[in-house]
Amino acid sequence: MRANLQSLLRIWLALLGLAFFVSCSQAPQQLAISGETMGTTYHVRYVSANPQHNPERVKEAVDAVLVQVNARMSTYDPNSELSRFNQRLQTTPVVISRALEQVLRRALEIAVESDGALDVTVGPLVNLWGFGPQARPEKVPTDAELAAIRERVGYQLLTLENHQISKQVPELYVDLSTIAKGYGVDRVALLLEQLEIQNYLIEIGGEMRMKGSKPGAEPWRIAIEKPISTERSVQRVVELADAAVATSGDYRNYYERDGVRFSHIIDPHTGKPIQHNLVSVTVITSNCMDADAYATALTVMGPQRALEFAEQKQLAVLLITREEDGFKEHTSTAFARYLQ
Ligand code: ADP
Ligand code: MG
Repeated sequence: MRANLQSLLRIWLALLGLAFFVSCSQAPQQLAISGETMGTTYHVRYVSANPQHNPERVKEAVDAVLVQVNARMSTYDPNSELSRFNQRLQTTPVVISRALEQVLRRALEIAVESDGALDVTVGPLVNLWGFGPQARPEKVPTDAELAAIRERVGYQLLTLENHQISKQVPELYVDLSTIAKGYGVDRVALLLEQLEIQNYLIEIGGEMRMKGSKPGAEPWRIAIEKPISTERSVQRVVELADAAVATSGDYRNYYERDGVRFSHIIDPHTGKPIQHNLVSVTVITSNCMDADAYATALTVMGPQRALEFAEQKQLAVLLITREEDGFKEHTSTAFARYLQ
């Protein structure tokens, strides 16, 4: 009787063990989290079977990383490290955080590479043309107004040396909004790597980075939008395994006055909003900070120079221009591998 009971107990324990094993070796699932950051939204999808990677926990960690990034470089937050530098009217150097240094260094490198097309000091011009926190201008700024603002714009007025930055004019204003989303995406990618999540897709305000695949080795698919503001429709779908993608375009953020279209992208060489027919630029690179910055730089350059630059740098680039009879695609040689 006693032996019987013991064997029953043994069978029962074995069954319990089996049930435990089955629940632990569950097939990896696709999980998703989302939230708000940098005046926009973020979405993260990832694949895991590890109970440690439950969405509440991952979201908490992602939010903490993004709060950190904002505390360094948000211009919306008057107390961020960057805002304090902008408010400071002295021209003596200040020591900056590693994060801010990393982003500023890259912004200045790409400014030089792009012959000033990317310029993180154009903020006052962005405001002058009505894309800042102030209301739209009643009329187009005069040449004198433009000249006065241009006195305090130019990346050459910003120096980064020995972990310190300084400005040559007290009113210099640095706005990293064209690179910070990409950097935020990269920081979230780093976090997921640290958590040993190997398959993911991260997106902040349209800038993305992905690794691996969905469950069942299904590739991540990215839709590049048609450059029209009235609806969201797909221009092209690309499959990516380990890459970052950013798109810049004037088709969503612009206004028209007297039949002229004003874009939120400023050509630092003229001090005015860009005027050409390049309406969308998509860049695929290995990190999202570069993709984000290059997308803006190429948008400033216009279609011809943008394609030349992409060839010279071997950047994978998809450009869309507005033509009389609709939109036209142009791709760089390095983009060919993403065309299906
Ligand atoms: P979006 O993703 O909205 O297209 P971008 O990443 O291209 O935006 O960045 C656009 C923002 O960058 C503008 O709103 C402005 O603040 C700033 N900006 C505009 N022109 C330039 C420029 N030439 N260099 C750097 N930043 C710029
Ligand atoms: Mg961008």
